[in-house]
Amino acid sequence: MELPKSTDVFIVGGGPAGLAAAIAARRRGLEVTVADREHPPVDKACGEGIMPDGLAAARSLGIPLEGEGQAFRGIRFCHDSDRVEADFPQGQGLGIRRTHLHRILVDQAAQAGARLLWGVGITGIDDRRVYSASGSTEAAWIVGADGAGSRVRGWAGLQSSGCDRRRYGFRRHYPAAPWSPFMEIHWGDACQLYITPTGPREICVVLISSDPHRRLEDTLPQFPEVARRLAGLAPTTPERGAVSASRRLDRVTRGRVALVGDASGSVDAVTGEGICLLFQQAQALAEALADGDLAPYESHHRQIGKRPARMADLMLLLDRRARLRRRTMRALAAHPPLFSRLLALHLREGSIFPFFAGTFTLGWRLLTL
Ligand SMILES: Cc1cc2nc3c(=O)[nH]c(=O)nc-3n(C[C@H](O)[C@H](O)[C@H](O)COP(=O)(O)OP(=O)(O)OC[C@H]3O[C@@H](n4cnc5c(N)ncnc54)[C@H](O)[C@@H]3O)c2cc1C
Repeated sequence: MELPKSTDVFIVGGGPAGLAAAIAARRRGLEVTVADREHPPVDKACGEGIMPDGLAAARSLGIPLEGEGQAFRGIRFCHDSDRVEADFPQGQGLGIRRTHLHRILVDQAAQAGARLLWGVGITGIDDRRVYSASGSTEAAWIVGADGAGSRVRGWAGLQSSGCDRRRYGFRRHYPAAPWSPFMEIHWGDACQLYITPTGPREICVVLISSDPHRRLEDTLPQFPEVARRLAGLAPTTPERGAVSASRRLDRVTRGRVALVGDASGSVDAVTGEGICLLFQQAQALAEALADGDLAPYESHHRQIGKRPARMADLMLLLDRRARLRRRTMRALAAHPPLFSRLLALHLREGSIFPFFAGTFTLGWRLLTL
């Protein structure tokens, strides 16, 4: 496919981040071109859960997601026989098949007037130009939305500060009616299963661990309740895997290049925050592009990522420390309001004070259990 001669904004990658950024930039009147090497709908291993703050961010971009997929009302942690659950303080979460989300975003971006080029791999950039095998485009701004393994990041010299942590996620769908109105996270030995309702008769099951060879079949015996519910059900999608990287970058802009979505850093998948973050980043990026100054995006981006990163650190600590995990689950099960408070904080509904108060209370309960 031919590249245009010039554009205001060239977005490399037409996944959720690239399309959300395209929609936001078009709403501010910029001419936008998006190129992706795949063809829609693009699938990817994902837990497929969007938190209420992610839906709010989508709404503010004019992307209507309510009524799609399957709503869920909160989060449930399961560990051995302990269960702790909390409703979201406001609104609901949404389980939505990745391909369905992609179709909606493609339609919205096309309606907004973005030029969408599919099957076009970008092979390089320089100061004001984007290159593919079939030509090049002059761009006032270049946006790297090319995912966790971003090449734009490398081309722009925006590599991470070296604190990457990798885990491996494997996803499948099963034809089961959701058995709970929650997104469930089942904690096992150095792995988690998380289960998202994605339709009235469909659930998405993701196994995530630090071991690239671990698979659902080998791990299910650790989770007898889930094993019992899935017994005899044939998955409706083949297994699809992806790396979940925890990556923080020192900078997400350089010159006229900006990164968005997983290209700009990511939190561990178990937080379920990736999509929410990219909607929020897309909004902040479009404002900066329209003002012709990327500096505010740099600071907004840092701010947006702080709480999810803190929550991811806590979750990964629980993943690594079996004894701490067991005691934490018991403490939360014995004091459910604490879990509600932590969930509210995760969703930016609380101030930082309850976080410290909550951590203190949790610490006290761990000591006294
Ligand atoms: C196992 C797992 C479970 C997850 N679960 C959840 C969850 O439940 N909820 C949640 O909110 N988040 C979840 N996430 C995170 C979420 O999936 C990501 O944050 C999200 O996919 C990032 O979108 P993106 O557009 O930045 O990147 P991607 O979705 O990776 O899209 C990047 C796009 O760029 C294209 N591309 C790459 N290189 C080029 C190139 N050179 N030229 C042209 N195109 C290119 C690719 O084809 C792709 O379409 C999960 C992640 C994993 C790994």
